[in-house]
Amino acid sequence: MNHQKLELIYQGKAKDVYKTDDPEVVIVEFRDDITAGDGEKKDILINKGYYNSIISAKFFEILEASGIKTQYIELLEPGLMLSHRLEMIPLEVITRNIAAGSLLRKFPFHEKQEFTPPIIQMDYKSDEFHDPMINDDIALALGFATREELETIKKTTLKINQVIKDFLARKGIIFPDFKIEYGRNYKNEITLGDEISPDSCRFWDMKTCEVLDKDLFRKGESGVINAYQEVATRILDEEDKEKWNIKD
Ligand code: UDP
Repeated sequence: MNHQKLELIYQGKAKDVYKTDDPEVVIVEFRDDITAGDGEKKDILINKGYYNSIISAKFFEILEASGIKTQYIELLEPGLMLSHRLEMIPLEVITRNIAAGSLLRKFPFHEKQEFTPPIIQMDYKSDEFHDPMINDDIALALGFATREELETIKKTTLKINQVIKDFLARKGIIFPDFKIEYGRNYKNEITLGDEISPDSCRFWDMKTCEVLDKDLFRKGESGVINAYQEVATRILDEEDKEKWNIKD
């Protein structure tokens, strides 16, 4: 099928979703906009959409190969991802292997404290309410998901964490934490959506602990796009790099 972007159906802070001629298939466009703090800090980071789409596609492919259901179909070109349409659940599912970020501002953990087993935290995705932390009972009362779906989400998330953490360890990257989002596909199955990229994860170099993610932007540091490029270079194999013209 010749998939063309039709009508815009959703616009997020860094991605747009378009209809295609197939009602169950959408095109997700990764934009270069970068935001932090509920969208208060904003900028354009040239080539960010390019790298984030390639990085997310790679992670989705690895997860699919491990039996995880994702919305990913294929990367049409850098920036444009053909995806299954999902009815999204407004939960940000955050997994933490190492204490960082807001967890340290809210609780008396010490910096870089390791969590075994990992911590799963859910936030209500809402700029209006500033993404408050939520629990199962509140999510149930708000009708976001059933108890069974919440169990599936947690089980799937732990598996995703394990698969990506092991993969990244082989690439010399530590995986302190990440945020993912789920939806339901046309069969009502819980399916991983959104993205897995330096915008939504923390990635640290294993040797130097150098930050390779959006924390650089949050802190106003330089070299943000170089960090994203570094993640892409490390995780892609030679075939991917040739296909997407990524230079080491
Ligand atoms: N995260 C995200 N979107 C959000 C909040 C957090 O993608 O709206 C990601 C963030 O990049 C990090 C993880 O979730 O990898 C945990 O973020 P944290 O709660 O520490 O918040 P932060 O310090 O990033 O504000």
